[in-house]
Amino acid sequence: MRKHVLDSHAHTIASGHAYHTIQEMAQAAADKGLELLALTEHAMAMPGTCHEFYFLNLRVLPRTMCGIEVLFGTEANIMDYDGTLDMSERLLKRMDVVIASMHIPCVRPGTMAENTRAYIKAVENPLVNIIGHPDDGRYPVDYDELAAAAKEHHVLLELNNSSLNPEGSRTDPVPNDIKMLEACRKYGTQIIVNSDSHCAFDVGDHQFADRLIEETGFPEHLIVNRSVEEYKKYINRFTLLK
Ligand SMILES: [Zn+2]
Ligand SMILES: [Zn+2]
Repeated sequence: MRKHVLDSHAHTIASGHAYHTIQEMAQAAADKGLELLALTEHAMAMPGTCHEFYFLNLRVLPRTMCGIEVLFGTEANIMDYDGTLDMSERLLKRMDVVIASMHIPCVRPGTMAENTRAYIKAVENPLVNIIGHPDDGRYPVDYDELAAAAKEHHVLLELNNSSLNPEGSRTDPVPNDIKMLEACRKYGTQIIVNSDSHCAFDVGDHQFADRLIEETGFPEHLIVNRSVEEYKKYINRFTLLK
């Protein structure tokens, strides 16, 4: 099995529909041998998630716990086809890492052209680091355009393990992820494999994503999870300081 040293998409009880605490998630990541975990709570437009003040106060948390590095950021919601996010620029700048995703409660699925535009506008936002689960068939997207834009703007495309779970709620993830991986290979776009776990048991679980990587022969040098150092070239906490 492939060895990934980090997981950069997970939720705690703060997100409202996830079930474990920061410390429980960190301990689970440490127990699974990860070097780094990023906790990325749903931003404010997601029903039931935490208030803006939760994100404002993240500085009080240590970035090392249970013997591993733990970062704090958000999974922001793309709200329209102009790529508008539900978090101010001032607050986004304070996030260690920013994922931008499209979610049913926050944005109505558009045409392929509209969804592609929404994602590309998010990619062009210098405070966005990762596009979350762009494999959801409810939001069809042109993977060539997305992979080329992500490469140009130094943004990671996510291979989301939860999408690929047969019990998951997203539509047609396997054919969509195969198309996304083909496009990333063509344009040399880096991907990140994330669990998107909503409970401690799923932290660092990349089994379905790993299987697809094996089956497609996707090259290791385009997977940022190979090294914490490589990952840090893409996220706000380290790149904004430059
Ligand atoms: Zn999501
Ligand atoms: Zn998520």
